[in-house]
Amino acid sequence: MRTSDCLKTIKPYMFVEINRKRDELIARGHDVISLSVGDPDASTPEYIVEAMKAFVADPSCQHYPSYYGLPEFRVAAAKWMTRRFGLELDPDTELLTLNGSKEGLAHLHNAFVDPGDYVLVPSIAYSVYESGALLRGGKAYRLPMNESNGYLADFESVPAEVLKRAKIMFLSYPNNPTGAVAPPVYFDRAIEFCLEHDILLCHDNAYCDISFDGYRAPALLERPHAKDCAIEFFSLSKPYRMTGWRLGFCCGNEEAVQALAKVKSNIDSGVFNAVQRAGIVALEGPQDCIVDMCCEYQYRRDVMVETMNSIGLECKAPKATFYVWAKVPPAYTSASFCEKALNSAHVVLTPGSGYGPDGEGFVRISLTSPTERIVEAARRLKECM
Ligand SMILES: *Cc1c(COP(=O)(O)O)cnc(C)c1O
Repeated sequence: MRTSDCLKTIKPYMFVEINRKRDELIARGHDVISLSVGDPDASTPEYIVEAMKAFVADPSCQHYPSYYGLPEFRVAAAKWMTRRFGLELDPDTELLTLNGSKEGLAHLHNAFVDPGDYVLVPSIAYSVYESGALLRGGKAYRLPMNESNGYLADFESVPAEVLKRAKIMFLSYPNNPTGAVAPPVYFDRAIEFCLEHDILLCHDNAYCDISFDGYRAPALLERPHAKDCAIEFFSLSKPYRMTGWRLGFCCGNEEAVQALAKVKSNIDSGVFNAVQRAGIVALEGPQDCIVDMCCEYQYRRDVMVETMNSIGLECKAPKATFYVWAKVPPAYTSASFCEKALNSAHVVLTPGSGYGPDGEGFVRISLTSPTERIVEAARRLKECM
């Protein structure tokens, strides 16, 4: 058999390889602490699990779901957007249920990218923005993103010949992996830029509710004219600790939402209705599970930031996301530091270089392990330095 040329242009998913190394050490009997993948350690809040049990048994949940998402879920998500951001969205035309936001982000390219087209992707980014384009025979143009521009990807410098064939610009703040947040003026400029060049602006807002020190992350859709050019992605995975359930939604510009809906209706058959109904319970239930968890992440963040700085890995305390982005000491690369942490401390970190060219020289430390494990990982890292 012969696989596609497109397939050859994408790398194996980074965490597949990292998890393989982790499992190898575990198999050899080592006590490995994984601070790699961003998957909340605590279980899904009880009230969501309990509700789900009843929905599974309900025959109305056992048939094919709607391609666009359960109407009641779309209404609940639209109401959540109103409560959370003060936005009015039409749940019938401007909002779509997703099998987790990764699925929607990956499939969006099918609706916009033809072979040879460009997508604009920050030079440190969630890999799905790029791989979705490569699988379509498209190309990714990397927007410089580094400490000196405050990790606000620089789209002003894109050459004219790239702009002519650019179809989507991806941004994501609060940012995975850097923890950076964006000021409203940055969003305004991005909207202006995308309107000017007829580009879809895609904002991935998976971390809007994981924030600290009183910071409250906005939606890009709150900005004037955003709906004329933008689509925004939200996920129930991180705030409600539902990563395994696969539920998210996108909303915003009707043409973009409907284009993605057309793609998806030809590929998948929607999200299990029981999961969508549990999602309604999550969005409408008590939200203190998020507040409590953020307090815990904040404590872990402070432990890690303090330790990292004390052993020569410079880092700032992020205002949002559950990641610490730390600069490795001059003698190391991203990969060689991860190797050292893994072999000497049995701590799994993620190399910054895996997120793109500007990530080299950094590691991402995920705070989604139990607090005592974070403390233990910090102790071991300190010892091995
Ligand atoms: C976790 C994450 C997502 C959400 O993933 P789901 O598919 O909804 O679980 C999206 N974008 C980024 C940047 C993430 O880190």
